[in-house]
This record gives sequence, C-alpha cells and structure tokens, in this order.
Amino acid sequence: MDEKRKSLLKNLPKIDEVILLLEKKDIYALAPREVVVEMVRQAVQDLREKIVNDSAIEKTAGEVNATNVSQLVEKFLKDLHNYRLRRVVNATGVILHTNLGRAPLCPEALRRIAEVGLGYSNLEFDLARGERGQRYNHVREIICAVVGAEDALIVNNNAAAVLLALNTLAEGKEAVISRGELIEIGGEFRIPEIMRKSGAIMREVGTTNRTRLADYEKAVSPDTGLLLKVHTSNYRIVGFTEEADIIPLVALGKKSGIPVMDDLGSGCLIDLTKYGLQHEPTVREVLATGVDVVTFSGDKLLGGPQAGIIVGKKIILEQIKKNPLNRALRIDKFTLAALEATMIHYLNEAEVVSRLRPLMSLTEPVAAVKKRALRLIGKLRRAKIADLEFTLRESFASAGGGSLPLEKIPTYLVGIKSGKTSAVRLEAALRRAETPIIVRVDKDEILLDLRTVAEDEFAFILEGLRNSR
Ligand SMILES: *Cc1c(COP(=O)(O)O)cnc(C)c1O
Repeated sequence: MDEKRKSLLKNLPKIDEVILLLEKKDIYALAPREVVVEMVRQAVQDLREKIVNDSAIEKTAGEVNATNVSQLVEKFLKDLHNYRLRRVVNATGVILHTNLGRAPLCPEALRRIAEVGLGYSNLEFDLARGERGQRYNHVREIICAVVGAEDALIVNNNAAAVLLALNTLAEGKEAVISRGELIEIGGEFRIPEIMRKSGAIMREVGTTNRTRLADYEKAVSPDTGLLLKVHTSNYRIVGFTEEADIIPLVALGKKSGIPVMDDLGSGCLIDLTKYGLQHEPTVREVLATGVDVVTFSGDKLLGGPQAGIIVGKKIILEQIKKNPLNRALRIDKFTLAALEATMIHYLNEAEVVSRLRPLMSLTEPVAAVKKRALRLIGKLRRAKIADLEFTLRESFASAGGGSLPLEKIPTYLVGIKSGKTSAVRLEAALRRAETPIIVRVDKDEILLDLRTVAEDEFAFILEGLRNSR
C-alpha cells in the first residue's frame, strides 16, 4: 500500500470524536445512542474501505475528517424519519397495478380503519352475548349475502386462501387439475408449487390447450381428494381449445363424493358486460353451479383491501376453519374494517361504480376520461411551464392485476414533450417527485393515462412538472 493511503488510514477520525460533534447537534433527538454509535462505526468503516480500494484517492482524502463523517451520519438519521412507503399517482393506465398497491381503498374503508384502529374494538368479542366471538363473523354475513354463499372465511390474500383450502381438502391426496390451468400469477405464485407446499399431490389431466370432462373422469380414484379449477386470470389460450365446463365437473364431484374447488382469482362481483366489458364470471354465477369452494382476492376486481376470500358450502368451510394453518393466515382488524366497508357498497351497484376506485376506472365512459384529459392539458398550459408541449392521444388502458387480460379499455393519454429534457429524464424526475408520478415513456414523450388519474391528483402532476427542471 502506498504512503498516501497509509497516512489517510492513520488519520481516520476516532468514533468518540465524531460522536462529540453529533452530540453538539442534539443527535439523540433523531435516534438512540446505540444506533448513533453503530452508524458512526459503519461510516468510519466505509471510509476505511474506500481508502484501501478506491482509485480516486484524492477525492477520498477530502472526506477523511470527523466533520464529514458526522454530517453523513446526521443526514442518514434524518432520512430514516422520512416515510419510504408513499402515495404515488398512477398514470400508467394499469388499473390494478400490483407494484403500485393494486386497489386504492374507498373513503369509507379508510374512515373505518381509523375508527376501529384508534380505539379498542369488538374484533373477537360478541357484544350481544358478552362472550368471545369470531373475527370473521363481522364480514361473513355481508359476503354471503352479496355472493350467495352458505359460508365465508377471510385470510391474508388469495394465495393463502388457495393454500389453506388445498391443505384442508387434499393433503396427502390427489388434486386433479387441467394442464391448461397450471398457471403462474407472478410474485412466485405458481399453482404446482403452492400445491406441493399444501401437501396435495398434483394430478395433471388433459393437455395445455384441451382438457375434457372425460380426462377428469379417468383420473378419479380412491386417492382423489379434490377436483380443482383455476381461472387462467392473466392469460388466455386461444385457437383450438377446450376446457371442461364447471357444471359437469360439479356433477362428477357429486357422483364421486369429491369436493370441487374453483380458484377464481380476480373475484368479480358485478356483471361487467353492462359496462361494455367482456364477460367475467362473477362469484355468484360460479357458486350457483353448486361448486363446493370458491377462492378470490379482496384487492383485485372487488376493489377492497388485500385479502383472500373463501366462500362455499358450510360443511366444507367448517373443515377449513378448523385447520390450524388458518390461525397462521388470519387477517387483522384493519383489513376486516376495510373489507366490511367495501362490501357494504355491493348492496347497491350504483355505489360500486361510483365509490370503489378500481371499478370506477374500469367502467367510466371514455368520453369522461377524454374530458378529464382535456382539463389537465388546459391546466398545464395555463401553468406556463417553459418548454413543455402537451398532446391529447387515444390509447388503451388495461385492468392489470391478472384480471381481464384481453380487455383493451379505450382511454385518453396526455403526451408531454420537453424541448430541453429527454423523456427518460422527465420520467425519472416525476418518479422522484415529492408525490411521485408513475408514467410511461414512448420515444421522446412521456404519457399520462387519465383513466387511472383522478382530478384531485392534477396538483401533484403540476407540482412534479414544475420541479422537474
Ligand atoms: C391473483 C390470483 C391469485 C393470488 O391472489 P393474491 O391475492 O395475489 O394472493 C391466485 N389465483 C389466481 C387465479 C389469481 O388470479
């Protein structure tokens, strides 16, 4: 090692020296002593490694002093006080964007979370009888009423719902499933893997594109525990295809005394064709076939909090509730409060499409989206942000979240182009804004899809663009 490096190492600031400087700045208001000491140690260690490894030794030399280290530590500790999980503006046009938190909650859900969360609650207390109650009971009745089920159970998410149902009904037994339904949802949720973890033995039948009832019939044996259908949420097989209908499958289950389960995934609760969208089977329709269990998400097309909802026959649900795994997958009071408030809207479909944001975005007439896009352009032009050009563009939005994969939802975009800044840099600037704006980039333009942007988010966009130069 050269002399320069050796002398720098000798001059590394002492931990105590840095701490003394930090104490003068009232550092313990930012973090307890143990944390401060640990950070200082780490900062000095980082500096030591830099001296040994960095080629730009002249620059490093300027950093080897107690003041510099104390400033680094202070900044780091101040940053710890900032929220990392933040609200963002979703201008991507992907309505249920898993990376952006899927369904935004309705105002009623938020109010209920605050009310229930700030005080104590009757989470597991039966107020009528004055004795211990069940947390699921608060939403059980409303879910059953809305989807027409005998019984319901809620867990953390639909992956947990599928795992719990499979483990209860098919552990150590065969679960029969079509090769066309061995899907991956993303985020590591793959049917064959979840099945293995549940202890069920996967019995694949049919082929990728065609599976007939006869394939299931042939697979049924004394080892069969479950007939499983999985909604191919995020993709479709088109062309020469055949899929066994759920009705004869239910009949086969009845005849053989084997429960039939349908993992619906998205969990659509209203008829979307009324709004010009493709038909997506509703939970009520599927339950009406006589299927024993249906599982679906709370934060996809339902438009509520993250949750996995299991509905179906009472005798099956009783079994699932008794599974010890259920305790490990149980939901918290905030989810329950939010889900209850969300479900109440389903008693009146007009509220569903006016209060639940994902459903609003999905069903809003394209003319209304266009009007909002024009209003945004007007506002942006009036703001006179130098060198920005705005263009109205027609395009397609999507449902996202593995829902309605083929649906191309007409929408309007606002294209923004800058004379000075590249689209890539503009995108990055908006992403790093105080309230981040997530946009798409197309060549030299950034695109904001107004189907997923609400009027009350315009201010964030203006602010973000103003500060982007
Ligand atoms: C989305 C989905 C899941 C997983 O649901 P999460 O709520 O994300 O855990 C499981 N099965 C199907 C068919 C899905 O579409």
